[in-house]
Amino acid sequence: MNLLFDSEGKVNYDKINKETTVKDVLEAIDIFLNNNPIPCDTCKESCCKKAWSVEMDNVCVNRISNWDERCASDYVKKKLVKKRNYYREFDQYVLDKEKNCHFITEENYCTIYEQRPIICRLYICIDKSYRYNVVRELIGSTYLKALIFEEEMRTSKLSDELIKQYKRNPAVFAKGYDISLNDIFNYSEEEGWLYEDERDELY
Ligand code: SF4
Ligand code: SF4
Repeated sequence: MNLLFDSEGKVNYDKINKETTVKDVLEAIDIFLNNNPIPCDTCKESCCKKAWSVEMDNVCVNRISNWDERCASDYVKKKLVKKRNYYREFDQYVLDKEKNCHFITEENYCTIYEQRPIICRLYICIDKSYRYNVVRELIGSTYLKALIFEEEMRTSKLSDELIKQYKRNPAVFAKGYDISLNDIFNYSEEEGWLYEDERDELY
């Protein structure tokens, strides 16, 4: 998978297959941004200093908590708030902030760059194609929902049936971003986020 500018000048990808993983997407973005650098250090309108939400995923929270379940749960309680995702109709966790992200410095450097949330990794502040945006959104939603599920499993006594249902999300307890897009798309279909005919257009 490679990212490129399409005929409309939008960021798009060439092709994916059944084996393509989320990690492949993130690597393709890094290569693209390396070849088409964005001047974040001199940006006057830093996306990290705006009032909009910074959505947090389970892998990011687990990484900054050194994979310690109690620390992860403390972090969720002290630093995050639940916010409704009205587009997908589920609750997600976002940083409890008014403006600047907790992790941005005056000079626009991210202090958790290597461990930053997946939505930050998937974000490119250039016009993006519809299919790139769909893939980005489905990956993000799967990992955002995984944090909600993991936190509930850490803090509440849930029925075996509910735990089984939560574990259908392929990102729950994932150690990283090695999940295949195929698994993300299967889960998205189960959740009603993606229809079969739309899925074909993503390959
Ligand atoms: S990614 Fe954010 S900080 Fe970097 S140039 Fe774009 S808007 Fe500015
Ligand atoms: S985590 Fe880092 S990249 Fe993401 S919004 Fe905060 S400062 Fe920006």
